[in-house]
Amino acid sequence: MDFNLTDDHLMVQETARRYAERFLSRIVENDRAGTYDPSLYRELAESGLLGVAMPKKYGGLGLDYISLAIACEEMERVDTSLRVTFSVHAGLCGTGLMQWGTPEQKEKFLAPLASGEKLGGFALTEPNAGSDAAAIESTAVREGDYYILNGEKMWISLADVADTFIFFAYTDKSKGHNGITAFIIERDRPGFQSHPIHGKLGVRAGDTGSIVLQNYRAHVSERLGEEGEGFKIAMSCIDGGRYTVAAGSVGLIRAAKEASIRYAHERRTFGKEIGQHQLVQRMIAHMVAGEETSRLLTYRAGWLKNQGKRSTRETALAKWVATNAAFEAASDAIQIHGAYGYSDEYPVERFLRNAKGAVIYEGTREIQELMQGEYALGYRQDKPLRCPPVPWPFPDDKEA
Ligand SMILES: Cc1cc2nc3c(=O)[nH]c(=O)nc-3n(C[C@H](O)[C@H](O)[C@H](O)COP(=O)(O)OP(=O)(O)OC[C@H]3O[C@@H](n4cnc5c(N)ncnc54)[C@H](O)[C@@H]3O)c2cc1C
Repeated sequence: MDFNLTDDHLMVQETARRYAERFLSRIVENDRAGTYDPSLYRELAESGLLGVAMPKKYGGLGLDYISLAIACEEMERVDTSLRVTFSVHAGLCGTGLMQWGTPEQKEKFLAPLASGEKLGGFALTEPNAGSDAAAIESTAVREGDYYILNGEKMWISLADVADTFIFFAYTDKSKGHNGITAFIIERDRPGFQSHPIHGKLGVRAGDTGSIVLQNYRAHVSERLGEEGEGFKIAMSCIDGGRYTVAAGSVGLIRAAKEASIRYAHERRTFGKEIGQHQLVQRMIAHMVAGEETSRLLTYRAGWLKNQGKRSTRETALAKWVATNAAFEAASDAIQIHGAYGYSDEYPVERFLRNAKGAVIYEGTREIQELMQGEYALGYRQDKPLRCPPVPWPFPDDKEA
């Protein structure tokens, strides 16, 4: 076991940190105003990071899954909205296309994502279906070489800005979740509409919205996987997405810890720095433990991903532990700041608002608990997939 970061990892860490820190003041303004700024992602695309863990063959940097985690940690240390955009683009959509896409689909849809020319999204949740994904109501009806897609998706990150989405719909409702099929859809096509959601608690500098498809025509070549494989594809994409959420949460914990340590040295009560009070030290100690355990769990999942092994249990565990630890760290960071932490004069109230989202999306806290309980009791086992997770070095790059 080697805990050293490679030169590539250090390069990604330095680049992601530099870009994220450069964006900070604009993000704070966007968070206050509740606006998404597309120029940040055009700048980020220049760095190559949007395709950090995508094959070089398709224009990515071709680096490993640990590099992906490092980039997420550095982005969320500055703001969750940066990491959410990256997660949805690279984690949910990118890894899904890498794992399930045909060579032609990768050429057409993954390459523009890898280069950062386009942004990717993932559209599963609906007004009446979140945790219970099989309850979706969207439909896809085959007509010759096309499928006619209808349905409404809700709470979709980048709904109003991404170019390409993986969209899930029933092709055969009678088969239950085995009747769901995945499609690659594009914004600039007839039948696609999106609407922003305003008034969110957190991720306010990010874009979240709804997508409505009305008689959208998807060619059969835009079906991802086979008919009926959509549920498995959705869960595979979520394996990629949860990994990035876990990694990002490590960054949020770090940010909460750094802000708390700074303040604990500045603020004095009862004749000494508040950092000298043991109850304040305890909150900071919990942040240290949360950061380090979450990072180790995330890297363990990344290590399995590098080997092309299925890591659903390990990734879900990392996501659960890291998002809870991030929420606790953000809450304690406000506590350490006292009343000042309760205002936007300090960043910690933003951390708490942002941390709450990650305890909900990509599998709520309760769903993560159920999963870990079921794995431990032997009620849940992961079966091999027709398209297994893509190992690193990427086979596409070995062939190239
Ligand atoms: C900022 C943000 C971004 C998002 N981005 C995306 C995106 O890009 N794409 C996408 O498809 N979705 C996205 N989502 C949606 C997200 O994945 C769902 O909100 C999430 O899966 C939970 O679904 P729900 O909100 O419908 O809650 P519900 O499923 O209705 O759950 C409500 C409550 O009941 C609990 N509950 C449900 N079932 C059980 C059970 N069996 N046992 C115990 N408790 C249970 C839940 O834990 C929760 O506390 C996003 C959400 C947010 C907030």
